[in-house]
Amino acid sequence: MLTRTFEGMFLGGSPARGSGAPVSLVDPATGLEVAAVPQSTTADVDAAVTRAAEAFPGWSARTAGERARVLLRLADLLEQDSELLTELEVSETGKPVPVFRDGELPFAADNLRFFAGSARSLEGTGAGVLSEGFTSMLVRRPLGVVAGIAPWNFPLIMAIWKVGPALAAGNTVVLKPAPQTPRTSLRLAELAAEAGLPAGVLNVVTGGADVGQALVTDPRVAMVSITGSPGAGRAVMAAAAATTKRVHLELGGKAPAVVFADADLEAAAGALTLAATYNSGQDCTAATRVYAEDGVASELASLIASRMESVRWGDPRDPATDIGPLVSADHRARVHGFVERAVDAGGQVLTGGSVPPGAGSYYPPTLVTGVPQSAEIVQQEVFGPVLVLSSFSGEDEGVGLANDSAYGLASSVWTADVGRALRVAHRIEAGVTWVNDHLPIASEAPHGGVKGSGFGKDMSHEAVLEYTSTQHVMVKHAVREAHDSFRPA
Ligand code: NAD
Repeated sequence: MLTRTFEGMFLGGSPARGSGAPVSLVDPATGLEVAAVPQSTTADVDAAVTRAAEAFPGWSARTAGERARVLLRLADLLEQDSELLTELEVSETGKPVPVFRDGELPFAADNLRFFAGSARSLEGTGAGVLSEGFTSMLVRRPLGVVAGIAPWNFPLIMAIWKVGPALAAGNTVVLKPAPQTPRTSLRLAELAAEAGLPAGVLNVVTGGADVGQALVTDPRVAMVSITGSPGAGRAVMAAAAATTKRVHLELGGKAPAVVFADADLEAAAGALTLAATYNSGQDCTAATRVYAEDGVASELASLIASRMESVRWGDPRDPATDIGPLVSADHRARVHGFVERAVDAGGQVLTGGSVPPGAGSYYPPTLVTGVPQSAEIVQQEVFGPVLVLSSFSGEDEGVGLANDSAYGLASSVWTADVGRALRVAHRIEAGVTWVNDHLPIASEAPHGGVKGSGFGKDMSHEAVLEYTSTQHVMVKHAVREAHDSFRPA
């Protein structure tokens, strides 16, 4: 096992010691401390923003090609650092080694390579003679200092989704990972420096909501991009109003899966089990609500229950493990509380639903049926490997139940009828709708929600554009009287 200590911050191109009290990082698979990392204070945040502001003129003046080369080198270094990054991420989150090392880490590198390419295709459209006597250019400009605030469920990928597009567009960044999972972000900043990123372009501070708020209220920060819970998103949006900041909010989800009777039920059961249990269900796009058409609900429920029983949960370092523990004992108690209250209200647990004995915050895949649409387990984000299944009759009711949610991030529809798949996809209120699958994502495709899931896109060229503003540069090319040059549209 590789071990490394981290001082809690990365400022102006070097590691730095946070001035706050150390926070204990606990391995959720054992319940034991794996590291103690000093947290940042408000004064540390001020210093980080100062470094980022000082670095902005130089970084934003680099050509897109130069910025892209740094991001490409960083992607290579991430892959070369796989052993340490895997140890850091697994010991903080409890996700299985192959899931991170062979899946999430290469995906993070692919994201960076996409952003590197995207940096080189930033363009303003509509350039030309838009008003007689003038040549107009629309220029994409970076915003300045961007604050990225990340959650604990995919620490490295979330950091890349903040840092990648912001740097590609020419901004400088202060990144704040979640307090439970800071070390892959600190390592990312070290690797970025090794890749040639100039000092001060990427800074990392650590800590919780108070450190996040210090970033949001700093008038020198031009934009805050947060991935987190709806409450945190609303707090950021409210605080950002005081200094008129742009906000980018990737908040929670409560993804429905609408399964029609003509669907391949075996395939649906397999994919929905994976989509409900991947990362132990701590995924904003996880399948959480299955609506099965009348006539197939009980068959689908038993197919999912039997697949859930074959999911191997346990030690994240055992190569046979499919899912590891939940992120903490407190979080497990929260997840289990939803299941207990659903049972108290008359719901049935078809599989799972109990806290296993022993160390580690494990929770088995759990299928609940027989709860009304208004139940909290249907309406609120549980963020554990818990799926609720109910039935519907006809397309309208299926879509209505899917849309009866404060959230609108991910969704899926399952049917052999292409026309119905498209009709339902057009009516579902969500940022992504999969047809006959649930979960896959790609660096090229925008990821983000509607309704209470927030707004703004991660990944894709759209994400890079969100970290820019458009400037209209209007050049007078004809010799004319000054008063002739204004023409109302
Ligand atoms: P959280 O809201 O507790 O914290 C997220 C981040 O925000 C942390 O870094 C935290 O310190 C910070 N924060 C919290 N309150 C803040 C405040 N008032 N001001 C500034 N910063 C603040 O969320 P979490 O428990 O770490 O992550 C789980 C949540 O994230 C879930 O709701 C999940 O759905 C969501 N999530 C969404 C997406 C997406 O793409 N939409 C992806 C992953 C996770």
